Amino acid sequence: MALALLARFLWMPLVQLGAGASIASPEPEGLQEAERFLEKYGYLGSTHRGIRPAEFSEAVREFQWVSHLSLSGKLDASTVHQMNLPRCGVNDARSFAAWKERMDALLLGRRAEKKRRKRYSHQSGQWYKRHLTYRVVNWPWYLPQQQVRLAVKAAFELWSNVSSLVFWEATSDPADIRLTFFHGDHNDGTDNAFDGPGGALAHAFFPRRGEAHFDNDERWSLDSSKGRNLFVVVAHEIGHTLGLEHSPVRSALMSPYYKKLGKDFVLSWDDILAIQNLYGKPPWGSTVQLPGKLFARFHDWSQDIEGRERQEGNPSAHYCRSFFDAITIDLEGNLYIFKGGYFWTVSKGGNTTGPELLRTKWPGLPSTIDAAAFSEEDGKFYFFKGGRCWRYGPSLEAGFPQKCSSTGDLPRHPDAALYFQPLRHLVLFKGPKYYVVNEETFQVEPYYPRSLRDWGGVPAMANGALTHLDGFVYFFRNDGFWKFDPDKLQVVASGKWAPQLPWLGCQAVDPS
Ligand SMILES: [Zn+2]
Ligand SMILES: [Zn+2]
Repeated sequence: MALALLARFLWMPLVQLGAGASIASPEPEGLQEAERFLEKYGYLGSTHRGIRPAEFSEAVREFQWVSHLSLSGKLDASTVHQMNLPRCGVNDARSFAAWKERMDALLLGRRAEKKRRKRYSHQSGQWYKRHLTYRVVNWPWYLPQQQVRLAVKAAFELWSNVSSLVFWEATSDPADIRLTFFHGDHNDGTDNAFDGPGGALAHAFFPRRGEAHFDNDERWSLDSSKGRNLFVVVAHEIGHTLGLEHSPVRSALMSPYYKKLGKDFVLSWDDILAIQNLYGKPPWGSTVQLPGKLFARFHDWSQDIEGRERQEGNPSAHYCRSFFDAITIDLEGNLYIFKGGYFWTVSKGGNTTGPELLRTKWPGLPSTIDAAAFSEEDGKFYFFKGGRCWRYGPSLEAGFPQKCSSTGDLPRHPDAALYFQPLRHLVLFKGPKYYVVNEETFQVEPYYPRSLRDWGGVPAMANGALTHLDGFVYFFRNDGFWKFDPDKLQVVASGKWAPQLPWLGCQAVDPS
């Protein structure tokens, strides 16, 4: 079995290297994918009747312009990379024209603006009233309702602060604007079907349909550290429901690509210009601009978790009802489950203790972590957060934390870490790739990173992974688990971890 595995993990890199490098001159498959992308996002007409090379190259050039890439008109590596970034599902077809009109209005003055406003509202539509109601129809199971409503309210306020619009939350229908989470195909056309984690995150309809849809397969979050920031994506989709097209300005909230919440203003000058062109300035004249750092934490549950759970008298309740940040297992079979600034332990016998503060056992760790692994090789704990790493054996070793992302080419913000016995190394997972890491040097081993496809059936963006005492590797994402057979190199089972895996200590939890 070790031989088969080595063949898969160590030999295939050499074979596949050629395939990976060919992205620059795409094979028919990559070409078709690019055509589908360009058609979906409005750069190409229907691709059914075949496309002339000149047409294709012009579409690529237009896409490169909007994406701030060099205008080669060719499907080069950076263009393919850009096409695979998470983004809004609304197409970019009119974004250039709308932006040009905004610029003309700005540069040529009021006459041009009047003319433009007529044309613009004709194209994307606008609301004829200034007081609009909205409703959050559903939300991800793992996010608390109160915090989701707060984040959505703040997202609407971004726009009402800089325009004449006013928004009210409606608790029942009818509402002018409805926000709904869906999986996959949800009956608004196959082009709008959601595509699982990554890719299109959400889309919305222009006025006056009043619908914004969010991909339920994304991991949404209310704090900025991990997952897709719900506040940012909601604020962007609200822009569409109000009549705004995508902006080619890189810093704009209405830029089609997903942005992490920064410290700076959430709206850019171009967003403000666009909304004021449709609805005018706020009645009090000046606009109120809010910086991103105000919205970084809608869900600071770790502040009060200890008190709350003591009241509930159930220490394991919290991680069982929601996803966790990381998980690992030591030589004695004790599980460590990490969430926020806390961890729980579940012994081999199923005894759960915690929550305990991370820093009481591992002084020097940051307030939260991205990934953790215990190495069977050296008996040490490894932690990862952002671009840094920590090693405890058992106390923090000299020279740590290190900037592993710059010294060893490790990925920043890894999704999960695992000590993988057959390779006798740590493995880091990040998006569609995995990295085999040398624990001594914190260097990525030669021929890595490689595609997650090597791990037959393991999903991208796992929260954590471990090798259980039964010899299988378990991957966890949100409420789901995937059981991986290291002999077959295949996922052999999957399901919901809280009710189905008794060794996680969640079956004793009283659902009331
Ligand atoms: Zn959009
Ligand atoms: Zn939809």
